[in-house]
Amino acid sequence: MAVSGEIRDLIEKTPFVDTHEHLLDERTRLRRAAAGEIPTDIGYLFSHYADSDLIVAGMSADDWKRVTTVGLDAKDKWKLIAPCYARTRHTGYLQNVRESVRMLYGEDDIRDDNFQAISDKVAANMKPGFYHRVLNDLAKVEYTQVNSFEHVVFNRTEDPALLCQDLSFVALSTQVSPEGITTLSKESNIEVGSLDDWIRVVDWCFAAYGPRAIAVKNQSAYNRRLNYAQVSKDDAARAFARFLAKPDGFAYEDCAPFSDFLFHYCVEKAVEYNLPVKLHTGYYAGSGRMPLHRVAANPGDMCELLQAHPAAKFVMMHITYPYQDEAIAIAKHYPNAYVDMCWAWIINPAASVRLVKEYLMAAPANKLFTFGGDYTPVELVPGHARIARKGLAQALSELVDEDWLDARDVPALVERLMRGNAHEVYDYKETLKAWG
Ligand SMILES: [Zn+2]
Repeated sequence: MAVSGEIRDLIEKTPFVDTHEHLLDERTRLRRAAAGEIPTDIGYLFSHYADSDLIVAGMSADDWKRVTTVGLDAKDKWKLIAPCYARTRHTGYLQNVRESVRMLYGEDDIRDDNFQAISDKVAANMKPGFYHRVLNDLAKVEYTQVNSFEHVVFNRTEDPALLCQDLSFVALSTQVSPEGITTLSKESNIEVGSLDDWIRVVDWCFAAYGPRAIAVKNQSAYNRRLNYAQVSKDDAARAFARFLAKPDGFAYEDCAPFSDFLFHYCVEKAVEYNLPVKLHTGYYAGSGRMPLHRVAANPGDMCELLQAHPAAKFVMMHITYPYQDEAIAIAKHYPNAYVDMCWAWIINPAASVRLVKEYLMAAPANKLFTFGGDYTPVELVPGHARIARKGLAQALSELVDEDWLDARDVPALVERLMRGNAHEVYDYKETLKAWG
């Protein structure tokens, strides 16, 4: 089926609001590269997501380490990458590396005769200001929303207009740790001897960072089900006191009473600060560890949360792949449920095209976000945006061609899906004001 040229051109020139990345601040990236902590060669292009497919295709843990860290020269890295690349070049992750290389460095594939040139260009490209070129000019994104790991809760970024920040409430609720308590206790100047003290720290975090945050984020689905129980404050306080007395011997499950209590508490704080609640749902990053029995419970568990907090806007990230049908059903049924396609385009491009088509025929169009690169290396965002634009053009063309969508509705739909919905739900302008 032919993709409509008109739809393709429209999508090509419309900027995305990029609703999910893990980008380091540019200054951090440059500093860490200069310190030899991050490679500045071809290995870096295979260090996020692509590496998972390489490992699953047969790369050993030792070779993976050599490829993704500093030490080996580009020639030897390519020797380790090439056989696994041949086995995986058709997957979304590897197509993404290739697309990005094409857009950034003008090379249409990675081969024995050009890996060195590409590797040299990775290093040469890394200059102050390169984030704007890569994100605004090449990926054509208006701005990004970043779940940063540079601070336990909130990264005071150097560039809030380009790298809007999520407030991570993992360390406040589902993974309270002695280190997190020490850091935040110091920052807030609140000594923590009880759950009430900790709640004051949580309140302080929201007061200090909430106005500058674009959303709150939690990825505890990597460790547990999303069935957060309604626990009384007394029970939570008792468990918290036991944890404070002996944090080292405390198992993840033993934290449940206060984790669950604090999760619900933070969701209500997010409502108070008008921040959408982004939750990791579905597929796991990495390899060899995903318990699908537990992941499969995500959609059902989401329903309980949606009902418990009707004023909260819950964003189901990554289309809850491979349970995207359930995500569509939830977005159709619950006014406060949103679906985000971040990362999904490269996990499974074909499933993502289907998701767009089936979502639009089932659920209100204002609750779908269609792009987030979900990357740490900024270099890999343009390829992902390209794949998303290609898939979106295919999905909308097919809907028109199959007579499920009126061609006259396409322009407004494109605007909405690529940026309008994000501007309705995430208050970019207010957030920027708070940065001053
Ligand atoms: Zn992510």
